[in-house]
Amino acid sequence: MSNYPQIHQSLLYLYPKNTSRMAIIITDECINCGACEPECPNNAIYEGGAEWKYSDGTSLTGLITTLDGNEVMADDEFEPKDMDVYYIVTDKCTECVGFHDEPQCAAVCPVDCCVDDPDYRETEDELLAKKDFMHL
Ligand code: SF4
Ligand code: SF4
Repeated sequence: MSNYPQIHQSLLYLYPKNTSRMAIIITDECINCGACEPECPNNAIYEGGAEWKYSDGTSLTGLITTLDGNEVMADDEFEPKDMDVYYIVTDKCTECVGFHDEPQCAAVCPVDCCVDDPDYRETEDELLAKKDFMHL
């Protein structure tokens, strides 16, 4: 089964094709207030030191093939990406595409430490495919 299901035409209208976007990262300026975590539609935000799973906040169950071709169990626990401050799992972050018109973590962060990562770019189509991969 393809990991890139057909994208609903109405979403393509809202998010023009092949527009380059930047992933969102949390910087060391994070004050660990926790405001962003419940706002994420993909459960892509975790507290520092917490393990993360594909199944958290998604429809993913059982054996899955990730978008980069790895086979893992949806309930597998992965190492924290940061031990000290909240972090974003890039593989789960859609930059809120498919849910909201702006990154919700950045919108609520009181210290503006949810910022674009200039080294990581994805197109609107890739972000929508990621959203559809996670949410049936
Ligand atoms: Fe979650 Fe949206 Fe922030 Fe990505 S940009 S971590 S999807 S709230
Ligand atoms: Fe850190 Fe900002 Fe999230 Fe608060 S809202 S936990 S300061 S990234």
